[in-house]
Amino acid sequence: MREPNLKQDIEVLLTQIEQTSATSSLLDLSQEDRSDLLKQSATYADAFISSLATTNGFAQKAVRGLAIGKEPISLEAALQLYQKEVVENGINAASPKHLGYIPGGGVFTAALADFLVAVTNPFSSAYYASPGAATIENEVINWIKSVFGFPESAVGALSSGGSISTIIALTAARDKHQIKNERIPNSVVYLSDQVHHSTQKALRIIGLEDVQIRHVPMDSEHRMQAEALNTLVELDKAAGLQPFLIVATAGTTDTGAIDPLNEIADIAAAQSLWFHVDAAYGGFFILTAKKALFAGIQRADSLIVDPHKGLFLPYGVGAVLVKDRNAVLHSHYYTANYMQDGQNEELLKSPANLSPELTKHFRGLRVWLPLQLHGIAPFQACLEEKLLLLQYFRARLLEQGFCVGPEPDLSVSYFWYPFSNDVDEKNKQLMEEIHQDGAVFLSSSIINNRFVIRIAILAFRTRKETIDEAMEMVCRCLTRVS
Ligand SMILES: *Cc1c(COP(=O)(O)O)cnc(C)c1O
Repeated sequence: MREPNLKQDIEVLLTQIEQTSATSSLLDLSQEDRSDLLKQSATYADAFISSLATTNGFAQKAVRGLAIGKEPISLEAALQLYQKEVVENGINAASPKHLGYIPGGGVFTAALADFLVAVTNPFSSAYYASPGAATIENEVINWIKSVFGFPESAVGALSSGGSISTIIALTAARDKHQIKNERIPNSVVYLSDQVHHSTQKALRIIGLEDVQIRHVPMDSEHRMQAEALNTLVELDKAAGLQPFLIVATAGTTDTGAIDPLNEIADIAAAQSLWFHVDAAYGGFFILTAKKALFAGIQRADSLIVDPHKGLFLPYGVGAVLVKDRNAVLHSHYYTANYMQDGQNEELLKSPANLSPELTKHFRGLRVWLPLQLHGIAPFQACLEEKLLLLQYFRARLLEQGFCVGPEPDLSVSYFWYPFSNDVDEKNKQLMEEIHQDGAVFLSSSIINNRFVIRIAILAFRTRKETIDEAMEMVCRCLTRVS
């Protein structure tokens, strides 16, 4: 064994450290480099936003050149790639001309919040690690509770979106009703055909693939029929099954319909069912003149809503509210069963105890900052405007001889052209022409066995001019269908 020569060892180490740090320090940019990159990014963002009025809503092409190579490239080169391969390809979700699926957002002040969050990187999941960041997350949840008339005692979490929010909510329902082991096949969930597929997906993910699912009949406006729900529950109970969960939707993806929440809440209460409301798309329209349609939403046991839809924020923020905190803690706080209520007050301040996530994006700031900087009024006005724009679009379509779906509850509707023959086939052709054209993006659906073209207005930049452009495009495309 060689004699230890600490002095020499340290010297060697110091040389090695010096050698590696020359490269490792490249990650910590100088003030000059930072300011240069920021400038380039700001210039890029400005050009992107300015171009939105004139660029198309949709394009489709092969993607090239995005593999990560060994050598670094400049930000300029990266931005060029990004522009060509990402921004100019697919659905332009920040565009006013995204009128398909559920349109996206991208409020600028939320982008600033994300930037600041990434630079400062607070650990928002644990109250002790960043009491301020955790409090911002909690204040956002408190604000959402107040919007939906949920009691202060309800808990909630910010998630990446509606799908993860649904998992949290339905897990709470499962745990509250102790749906496990041999009880699973006899347990019954009620939903309508218009429910978003993230609900069935969540049931599978949380181990409830084998529950029985009842599809409650809907009325002609695609709303769940409350009486039919009650009958189904009664029949199932009489057959010895265990109804435990009803999933209602406040703003369906296909047609924007709002289920009769108050009537469903009555049934849920009388039959001891967990009442979950999916308000991912429609929820924030409660801030508009449509408020009355949401009556009863405050009676839900759990609710999900997506700020990245109805608050026009960039993708990546959903919210879930649950009244029974112990049901949520059961899965998400490991030792919740041994905690007394008093101590729960403290642990409820840490978002990690109410969601599957531990280390996570501090997404509270991208909700908090825009609400603080703009106030609520512009968000409300934007939602009202989308409702009016849909009415305007429908009137213009009728004027041109199109057929439209029933009077919409919110900002989603559909239309088709009454061709004299092969109506479905020709409307499909019309849809293809519209996608080929790309000026404005619309999507399609099958509603009442009919192929229809959907309009969904929720992009905050969509204005009257956008609808005029959409009308022009639809008429242009119609002439191309033979
Ligand atoms: C978008 C949507 C979801 C899913 O939410 P994501 O944020 O996409 O995960 C669930 N339900 C409804 C009604 C939706 O519109």
